[in-house]
Amino acid sequence: MPENSKMISCRNCDTQIPAETFAENLNICTHCDYHHYMSAYERLNLIVDTDSFQEYDADLYSIDSLGFPEYPQKLERDVAKTGLRSEMLSGIADIGGYPTAIAIGDVGFIGGTCGSVIGEKVTRCIERSLENKLPLVIVSVSGGMRMQEGTLALMQMAKTAAACAEYAKAGLFYISVVTDPTFGGATASYTSLGDVIIAEPGARIGFAGPLAVASLREELPENFQKAESLLEHGFIDAIVHRTDMRQMLTDLIAFAS
Ligand SMILES: [Zn+2]
Repeated sequence: MPENSKMISCRNCDTQIPAETFAENLNICTHCDYHHYMSAYERLNLIVDTDSFQEYDADLYSIDSLGFPEYPQKLERDVAKTGLRSEMLSGIADIGGYPTAIAIGDVGFIGGTCGSVIGEKVTRCIERSLENKLPLVIVSVSGGMRMQEGTLALMQMAKTAAACAEYAKAGLFYISVVTDPTFGGATASYTSLGDVIIAEPGARIGFAGPLAVASLREELPENFQKAESLLEHGFIDAIVHRTDMRQMLTDLIAFAS
């Protein structure tokens, strides 16, 4: 290893991993298998066939309807940081050769919180897949609904859930992929409405966060809000390792086609 190689510290086991090894291993710890943050673009490359992605609604951008302090500055900062104009990347791409409508969240953009643009992009993505009779994959990551947009953000739960209901009526196939962390209104709407719900290992998924829940009861069970516990209790259907995600999606879409 080069002496000046940048090291990444695993947030689960503190193992120091050379940055190149970490990237080659899809941001997964080589020691404990902890699945670290991936950007929306990294996930896109992981899941879809090369050069098959056609982006839609790329220019949708939040307005500061409440005059919330520092919100415009935070939006500008995260546009520069992520290369996205909202928390979600959406469009149509091939997965294992199957044309699929896809939307992918990025927790690096305002904490992955869900505001009016994300609700609109998810809804349009569902409508697009309905119109073209395509399978749908939504990769969720969310810090909850966006407080800077107040009620406008909360309304996105009803809007996306209504779009999911229309999609389900048409008998099409929606795979919800849940990644760490996914909380709040996303969990309470589109994330939980997949025909199949699959999570990455160790992903934290819930409505209220553990600190809020802990304030209501003395002790939280082991693995509280972790994918492994949620699988045991039937909240999700499978846990899929990041290296197997593309194949699993391909197999599921092929099965439903
Ligand atoms: Zn580790």
